[in-house]
Amino acid sequence: MSAYDLIVIGAGPGGYVCAIRAAQLGLKVAVVEGRDTLGGTCLNVGCIPSKALLHATHSLHAAQHTFAKMGLTGPAPGVDWPTMQAYKDDVIGQNTTGIAFLFKKNKITWIKGWAQIPAPGQVKVADDVHTARHIVIATGSEPAGLPGVPVDETTIVTSTGALTLTKIPAELAIIGAGVIGLELGSVFARLGSRVTVLEYLDAITPGMDAEVARNFQRILAKQGLTFILGAAVQGATVADGRATLTYTLRKTGAEQTMSADTVLVATGRRPFTAGLGLDALGVTLSPRGQIVTDAYYATNIQGIFAIGDAIAGPMLAHKAEDEGIALAEILAGQHGHVNYATIPGVIYTSPEVATVGQTEEQLKTAGHAYKVGRFSFMGNARAKANFAGEGFVKILADKATDRILGAHIIGPAAGDLIHEICVAMEFGAAAEDLARTCHAHPTYSEAVREAALACGDGAIHA
Ligand SMILES: Cc1cc2nc3c(=O)[nH]c(=O)nc-3n(C[C@H](O)[C@H](O)[C@H](O)COP(=O)(O)OP(=O)(O)OC[C@H]3O[C@@H](n4cnc5c(N)ncnc54)[C@H](O)[C@@H]3O)c2cc1C
Repeated sequence: MSAYDLIVIGAGPGGYVCAIRAAQLGLKVAVVEGRDTLGGTCLNVGCIPSKALLHATHSLHAAQHTFAKMGLTGPAPGVDWPTMQAYKDDVIGQNTTGIAFLFKKNKITWIKGWAQIPAPGQVKVADDVHTARHIVIATGSEPAGLPGVPVDETTIVTSTGALTLTKIPAELAIIGAGVIGLELGSVFARLGSRVTVLEYLDAITPGMDAEVARNFQRILAKQGLTFILGAAVQGATVADGRATLTYTLRKTGAEQTMSADTVLVATGRRPFTAGLGLDALGVTLSPRGQIVTDAYYATNIQGIFAIGDAIAGPMLAHKAEDEGIALAEILAGQHGHVNYATIPGVIYTSPEVATVGQTEEQLKTAGHAYKVGRFSFMGNARAKANFAGEGFVKILADKATDRILGAHIIGPAAGDLIHEICVAMEFGAAAEDLARTCHAHPTYSEAVREAALACGDGAIHA
């Protein structure tokens, strides 16, 4: 049927961004999406709805805990859960229709339905076969699940079910202390749920700088989250709408049980490639089910490429987007490229946690001589005024050259502050470059500058 330069399968942040950039560069582009709306996991059941609920419940928390201290009196607001859900759905709608507008603006054809690749150069949707010079698989990921813990999306839920619970659970058990579990745990703790997080490892947020992770756990515990670490969950059953979990404490081998109204399984995500026909095509997958690509996002089959959660690397929307742009540029004959060393990671709890580059543990393991510049938000005037003095900025720099190797922030607006350091790292900056850059007062970003100063002759307000 219709012939395109490029057909992208999947309209998540990887796919839709790839399509827009390719269209801007003059390619004739179509995107196939199986969902009713564009935007993928991120806009429909991921980043955006979770951030809407985090914003709403953070506002509630501020009203309950800080308004009176500022002389804002009156009863604290109550929670109208259906209206909060409607607000979240409205935010989703605004964003997904925004992508549809961008498709029209860029003359991208939106093919509705689930795609299959019967042969290189062909994409089949229902009974129609479309042809394209290039095919990009951007089909994303799905919740990974846990053996013995059957998800019904009512009592035992994934993040998708947790975002649409019909009522706020009195007791919520979360399996997995990663980003998704802790963000949703924060949401429900602020809404009054008793939240218990069970984690297989001995620390939360595996892979994060250990000093930040320890502080993060302490802060979340103060906010009411209970952590059971080193807990290997064995199984779950549901009776009368309540779940019972069994788990083994890895240190002692002791078998334990706990019950909860709702269990959130947040044990990670796996690539979603079902139904594409990759086996028949002979597309190579990794043992973890990721589509294997080379440095130019090409699979082993001529003309078929892949990006985003479906391939290796951190499962993050902005990583998928950057790969989408890079690949579109490559397909248009340019030199697209992603610098994986400067991809930030953010957890949108309160305070936020943000990280880029290497952790202290990674530098130690690599035997890399480094120095640390730390600055507490308690020394930042703006943070103190805003009841946001908890947390710190930590910059790791090469001991000899002062070049920034990594940065880890726990504190207010950490997810925004980290980008100054990402840009600095892209330019190969030294900590001194940040330290000598004038930062407006009073801003949270002064804490970044102070941490950079601490890599040299010392912070001023410490
Ligand atoms: C609760 C939650 C919160 C998150 N929060 C954040 C965050 O704050 N920041 C962040 O960076 N990341 C976050 N993520 C991760 C982020 O959502 C993903 O990394 C990102 O969406 C991956 O983009 P993608 O384009 O690779 O795939 P996806 O967004 O998963 O999109 C893939 C699309 O492909 C479609 N599709 C699949 N197969 C086919 C087919 N055969 N035919 C047609 N269509 C198909 C799917 O329907 C889907 O719409 C979060 C995830 C979750 C679950």
